[in-house]
Amino acid sequence: MTVHRSSHHAKKSLGQNFLIDPNQLSRLVEALDLRAKDAVIEIGPGTGLLTERIQPLVRKLWAIEIDRDLAAQLQHAFSSAGNVEIIQADILKTDLIALCGTEDARVIGNIPYYITTPIIFHVLDHPGPLQDMTLLMQKEVGQRVVAEPNSKEYGILAVFSQAYARVQLLRSVPASVFRPQPRVDSCLVRWTFDKTAASRITEDALFRRLVRTAFNQRRKMLRSTLKTFDLQKLSHWDLTRRPEDLTVAEWIQLANDLT
Ligand code: SAM
Repeated sequence: MTVHRSSHHAKKSLGQNFLIDPNQLSRLVEALDLRAKDAVIEIGPGTGLLTERIQPLVRKLWAIEIDRDLAAQLQHAFSSAGNVEIIQADILKTDLIALCGTEDARVIGNIPYYITTPIIFHVLDHPGPLQDMTLLMQKEVGQRVVAEPNSKEYGILAVFSQAYARVQLLRSVPASVFRPQPRVDSCLVRWTFDKTAASRITEDALFRRLVRTAFNQRRKMLRSTLKTFDLQKLSHWDLTRRPEDLTVAEWIQLANDLT
C-alpha cells in the first residue's frame, strides 16, 4: 500500500502544505548532506514525499506525524523498510531525547507554519544529543532566527538560536512549490548545535528567564525590565541599554554575571 496523495484532502488547520516539486525535493535532500550512519528525526512527514527520499540514505529515521490518517498510511507504506519508525504524535509533546537516546540525531522537516516558533523553541529547550536541525519554514521566521543585534527582527528567537547553535539561512523557497500554496514564501534554515553551549552558559534556566524578561518589553532599558534580578551584581554593566543592543555573547555574559 502507498500513501493516497491525490485523494488526501490537505488539512489547513494542520498546516498541510506539501512540497510537491521534485526539483525542490532533490535540492532539499542535497542540502541535508545525509550520511549512511545518520539517525534522523523528521517533523511532519505528511504524504511521505521527503521521507521516501531520505529513507534509503540513512541508518535510522523516526517520522513524527500528528494526522492519524496520514500516519496510518505512512505506517503501511514504510512497513517493509526496517529503518523507519512512523510515530503518530504531536511534535510539541514528543520528548526528542527519549526518542533518540544518546544518538547524535539530526532533525529535519518541512514544518507546519502555524507552530513554527513553538517547534523551534521545543527543540532548543533540549538540544541534548542533537547534531543539527534543518527546517523549511516561512521566510519571516527564518529571518528572525539569523537576525543580528540592532535590527527589528532580533529577539528571543535569535538569541536562543544563536546561543545554542551556529545558524545559517541556506536559501529562499517560493510559495509556488507547495500544494496547496501557502500565502508566504519560505526559506531553509540550519542550526548546527554547539556542544560547548552547556559549559559557556553557567545557569541555563536563568539565561532563558533573563532573555525572555528583557525582550518582553524590548523598548525599555534593562534597568527597568530587570528589576526582579539582583542588579547589584551587574554594577559594571550600562543598564540604560535596550535588549536589542546586546550581542548574544553579551546576553550569555550578563546571565553568567548574575549567578
Ligand atoms: N513533509 C511533508 C511535505 O514536505 O510535503 C508535509 C509538510 S506539511 C508543511 C506539515 C506536516 O506536519 C503535515 O503533514 C501536518 O499534518 C504535520 N503536523 C502538523 N502539526 C503537527 C504536530 N503538532 N506534530 C506533528 N506533525 C504535525
